[in-house]
Amino acid sequence: THAFLARIKQHPALNAFITISEEHALVQAAAADQRLASGDATDLTGIPIAHKDIFCTLGIKTSCGSKMLDNFVAPYDASVVDKFNHAGAVTLGKLNMDEFAMGSSNETSFYGPARNPWNTDCVAGGSSGGSAVAVAARLAPAVTGTDTGGSIRQPAAFCGITGLKPTYGRVSRYGMIAYASSLDQGGPMARNAEDAALLLQTMAGFDSKDSTSVDQSVPDYSAGLNDSLQGLKIGLPKQFFSSQLDNNMAAAIQAAIAEYQKLGATVQEVDMPNLELAIPAYYVIASAECSSNLSRYDGVRFGYRCQNPADLTDLYTRSRGEAFGAEVKRRILMGTYALSAGYYDAYYLKAQQVRRLISDDFKRALSEVDVLMGPVTPGTAFKIGAKTSDPIQMYLEDIYTIAINLAGLPAMSIPAGFIAGLPVGLQVIGNYFSEAKLLNIGHRYQ
Ligand code: GLN
Repeated sequence: THAFLARIKQHPALNAFITISEEHALVQAAAADQRLASGDATDLTGIPIAHKDIFCTLGIKTSCGSKMLDNFVAPYDASVVDKFNHAGAVTLGKLNMDEFAMGSSNETSFYGPARNPWNTDCVAGGSSGGSAVAVAARLAPAVTGTDTGGSIRQPAAFCGITGLKPTYGRVSRYGMIAYASSLDQGGPMARNAEDAALLLQTMAGFDSKDSTSVDQSVPDYSAGLNDSLQGLKIGLPKQFFSSQLDNNMAAAIQAAIAEYQKLGATVQEVDMPNLELAIPAYYVIASAECSSNLSRYDGVRFGYRCQNPADLTDLYTRSRGEAFGAEVKRRILMGTYALSAGYYDAYYLKAQQVRRLISDDFKRALSEVDVLMGPVTPGTAFKIGAKTSDPIQMYLEDIYTIAINLAGLPAMSIPAGFIAGLPVGLQVIGNYFSEAKLLNIGHRYQ
């Protein structure tokens, strides 16, 4: 704990942390020492970790990357945080992220962007940018993240670490600040699949406090890490490898897939005709859900409140106007529009229908093969500022990750080499609750 705290302080320019909870960490570390001495330790007792600043932490600020919650200290722990605390893990602090998890580069954070340790002029990815930087720069051995449309996998790919987005419902969302509730899912980010398995073991499981958490037993995620991949059927979605994919990226991904062929896997093409509709459908659904979820920030009960409001309407409008950033406002406007009477059928309902078609594409593909593989991102990490003026360019960053959230499937980003000094991620997508298989596949690559 001391070593990691010292290292965090040596690298403030990476901007990975929003809050360093040193005092709290030292108390937890001392308790962990006692627990280790008394022999009732878990695998995670005394292991320093850090949480994306979207998970509520009792007594430690939870900002969600927003001015709106810059003064917010939650009166309770998120279920995920609670589980790590019970296991004896040590919380080093809270990690930088895009505001309310809306973004693909960590640049919408009220606290400024986290920087990619491989090239500090480049973005870390987002929204779990601080999480990916912390692991890649060895500021923490392992961390938590959340993924609504790619926010675990994309920063993991950009920073060269392993990130797993579990099946929707596998990890409790209680105390995880809501962005788009039907898509949000917490998961582990770590140096490799072996560490990710240990984290997921602690995070996963039914929680009566989350009505969408699934009541299904949690397997031993470490047990099958070394299983043979002989005969594994890998599907390559034709739409992932179209002419739009950058040549270098295509070559890196093909090289990674060839490694699995050497381990005994077979490869076949699969057709998923509705994948190209994923981005428009996602941005209607996610914006609609966010406009509803973020209506709670009204300046009344908690969070930012404007100075000297003239009346109630002034309190609402100025508190929200002054504390939300531009991207969050854009999403709220799009979502409110899509949900308004007269437009509901044309946008929200249509997007839900497209969502079903995309799920059916995955169902069909995953009845033919065991897993799907492809890129996580269209290219490697881009320069800070390169895409901030063009939201559509930024939304296209999620082209390979978003469909998986619409279907609720698990998917993992595995480090798969470099292009010009910047990391590349291989995406592996599995059937519902196949996290153990994904971890096995990730582990065998290393
Ligand atoms: N980039 C996507 C968005 O802005 C996904 C973010 C996420 O997964 N939280 O909505």
